[in-house]
Amino acid sequence: MLRLTLGAELEALRQEFRSWVAAHPVPRPKSAALDEFQRCGREWQRLLASGRWLGLSWPQAFGGRGLNLVADAVVQEEMVRANAPQVLGLFGLTMVGPVLIRHGTDAQRARFLAKILDASEIWCQGFSEPGAGSDLANVATRAERVGNSYRINGQKVWTSFAHIADWCFLLCRTSQGKAKHEGLSYLLVPMKQAGIQVRPLKQISGDEEFNEVFFDNVEAPADCIVGQEGEGWKIAISTLMFERVVLTFARQLQSESLLRRLLELPQAEQFRDELASCVATATAVRALAYTHLISYANGKQPGPEGSLDKLFWSESFQEIADLGVRMLGSRAVLGEEDPEVGMYLHQYLYSRGRTIAAGTSEIQRNIIAERVVGLPRSGER
Ligand SMILES: Cc1cc2nc3c(=O)[nH]c(=O)nc-3n(C[C@H](O)[C@H](O)[C@H](O)COP(=O)(O)OP(=O)(O)OC[C@H]3O[C@@H](n4cnc5c(N)ncnc54)[C@H](O)[C@@H]3O)c2cc1C
Repeated sequence: MLRLTLGAELEALRQEFRSWVAAHPVPRPKSAALDEFQRCGREWQRLLASGRWLGLSWPQAFGGRGLNLVADAVVQEEMVRANAPQVLGLFGLTMVGPVLIRHGTDAQRARFLAKILDASEIWCQGFSEPGAGSDLANVATRAERVGNSYRINGQKVWTSFAHIADWCFLLCRTSQGKAKHEGLSYLLVPMKQAGIQVRPLKQISGDEEFNEVFFDNVEAPADCIVGQEGEGWKIAISTLMFERVVLTFARQLQSESLLRRLLELPQAEQFRDELASCVATATAVRALAYTHLISYANGKQPGPEGSLDKLFWSESFQEIADLGVRMLGSRAVLGEEDPEVGMYLHQYLYSRGRTIAAGTSEIQRNIIAERVVGLPRSGER
């Protein structure tokens, strides 16, 4: 699999992290159950934070090391090499954390960032609604300023980890603008309060990772707005740009780790052409992601090019997961009880949602066509 050499300093960091991992046993889930995934992910994240191995690109004053996103990527690669579990607070680490660093106040950074790093506070993303998915600017959840708070009423859907989240970064409407994307604001909302109802939704994989969330006169302190009232669209787009590059990078490595397992199966020889094709794509996807991360390390802000990463990763992940169940044959279904075997079917089912979450493949293609390649908007001549 791809092994890029990234310069002496980053290679030294890689070696330092390898030695640290060797001295700190990685927690392993005892089953494929979601609870166990969460327990393990929290424990691993706490351990990493104690060694300052998360948020390496974050300012030192807020628990980071003042490095860049390529340093974070190198550490993530090593985590996959060590077959480590996924950390629990991914939405905090890859979305709201970077957004607060870029758009938040000093008070917000001081209040939230350290607790994101060590998983003492878990975040969920309150963007999608029954009438606002691809057309996100259609958000109808309302927030009204009352004294020193915002009062929130409405409904979100597909909210991953809302059932365990302490905070939600919420896109909501604070006024009626001329255009749909005007009048939106970006609030940080405490989840553990009366008025919030979280109802789990069962996925095809059997997991209950995402939820419907109902807000009935819910309060958020007025100083929990990110940016100004009406700037929510700009900040939501910024969040999505981070999601499509930084979160995708972490997920891309997880799919490479699945691919590595396929390469080790006894039947690999029979599937050599398809495996080779998956390795070639995975290598290209990671190289592409690195070119983006390196450009951000050189000062560029994340932009629409992240849609390339998200599209190619999610579609190639589905190919890898599909190949996995075909290689296992009937065992993939019949061996569900054995976590080692059941994992292949679980990944296959789980992979279906990945071309939908964070913007569907059709939406990514539209963004690439219009904002990366510069083609006319769809419907324009
Ligand atoms: C596993 C998973 C986790 C998720 N987690 C979260 C979360 O934590 N927080 C959150 O806020 N949301 C989350 N989502 C929701 C996700 O962002 C939305 O499902 C996604 O944006 C699509 O919106 P929708 O489901 O409303 O589909 P729709 O927008 O209704 O789209 C339906 C279909 O129409 C197509 N379509 C729509 N518009 C166009 C267009 N202009 N051109 C071409 N085709 C189009 C779409 O591609 C799709 O195939 C999650 C989704 C999944 C699957």
